[in-house]
Amino acid sequence: MAHRVTLIPGDGIGPELAEATRRVLDATGIGFEWEVVDAGQGVMDEYGTPLPDHVLESIKRNGVALKGPITTPIGEGFRSVNVALRQALGLYANLRPARSIRGIESRYEDVDLIIVRENTEDLYAGIEHRVGPDAAESIKIITRAASERIARFAFEYAVANGRRKVTAVHKANIMKLSDGLFLESCRTVAADYDGRIEFEDRIVDNMCMQLVQKPELYDVLVLPNLYGDIVSDLAAGLVGGLGVAPGANIGAEAAVFEPVHGSAPKYAGQNKANPTALILSGALMLRHLGYPAEADRLEATVREVIAGGTTTYDLGGSAGTSQFADAIVEGLSSRDAASTSPAASGAR
Ligand code: NAD
Repeated sequence: MAHRVTLIPGDGIGPELAEATRRVLDATGIGFEWEVVDAGQGVMDEYGTPLPDHVLESIKRNGVALKGPITTPIGEGFRSVNVALRQALGLYANLRPARSIRGIESRYEDVDLIIVRENTEDLYAGIEHRVGPDAAESIKIITRAASERIARFAFEYAVANGRRKVTAVHKANIMKLSDGLFLESCRTVAADYDGRIEFEDRIVDNMCMQLVQKPELYDVLVLPNLYGDIVSDLAAGLVGGLGVAPGANIGAEAAVFEPVHGSAPKYAGQNKANPTALILSGALMLRHLGYPAEADRLEATVREVIAGGTTTYDLGGSAGTSQFADAIVEGLSSRDAASTSPAASGAR
C-alpha cells in the first residue's frame, strides 16, 4: 500500500530540492503517493492567506508532510508560515540531528548531536507590540506543561535511540522566572530517568562556547524555542553547514519533516542548492513511518555519495541539485542489486 504524504515544495530553492527529494524517496521502493499543496507568498492572491486551510487539512488527513523552506518577509508582512504551521498542528518537538559526514570538510570529525527544540512557545508565540513610537515589546511565554512535554520527548528519544545524556540549555540566571521554569520542568522530568539517562544543564552562552570547543562532550540537548533555533544552526555549522542539516517537527497527531535551512532566494532556480538536508529529513520521515532499515540505507547512500566526492557547491563540489539526486538514486539501486545478488544472499 502506498503511503500518502503531503508535499509542500515551498519557495526559493524549495521546489528544486523537493523534486530531487521526491525522486530519491520514490527510489527507496517504499511507495509514496504525494499530495502536493502550496503555501507562502505565491498563494496569497488566490487564498488571501499564506497558509490556506486545505494545506492544514491535507497534513491532518495524511499525518505526515515533507516540506521545503518558505520565505518569511522581514520586519513586516505576514507571520512566518513555518511557525504558524507548527502552532496550528501542535508540532511541539523540533528534532534537529547534527552528525559529521565523511568527505565534508569541517573542524571536527565525530560530531553526533541531537538538538531537541521546543516548538510552540517562548518568543515565537508572536505576541509583540509597539510601546509608543520608540519602543517595542515581545512577550516570552514559557509554561510548565510545554516544558515538561519537550523534556519528556528528549528523554524518551534518548532511551529509544541508545543515547547517554540530556543537557538542558537555558538562561535561568537572568530570566529567573521564564527560563527558571523551563529548567525546573526539565529537572522534574529528569528525575524519572535517574540511573538510565544522565542529566545536566548549561547556560546558553557557555553552551555555545563549549559546542565550538568540545562538541564531543554533548549528546542530546533540550532547549526552549529561540535558543533551539540558534544553537541548531551552530550545530549545523559544526558538521558542514545548513546544506546538510535535516529536521523534523513532531506532534501527537502529525509530523512535518523539513530542513533547518531557509529558502536561500539568491540560489533559487539555478540547480545549485544542496538537497542533502531535505533528503535526510526524508530519512527521518522514513523512520517515523516505521522503515528504519530503509532510512539507514538512504542515510548510508547519502554518506557514500558525499564521501565519493559528488557534492554541491556549498561543500566544494560542482554537482548540481539534480545531479546529486541522480547519484543517490543510482547508489540506492546498486545497493539493491548488491543485496539481492547471489553472493550477497550467501548462495555462492
Ligand atoms: P537560508 O537558510 O535560506 O540561507 C542562508 C545561506 O545558507 C544561503 O545564502 C546559502 O549560502 C546557505 N544555504 C542554505 N540552504 C542551502 C542549501 N540547501 N544548499 C546550499 N546552501 C544553502 O537563511 P536566510 O537567508 O536567513 O533565510 C532566507 C529565507 O528563508 C527567509 O525568508 C527566512 O525567513 C526563511 N526561512 C525559512 C525556514 C523554513 O522554511 N523552515 C527556515 C529558515 C529560514
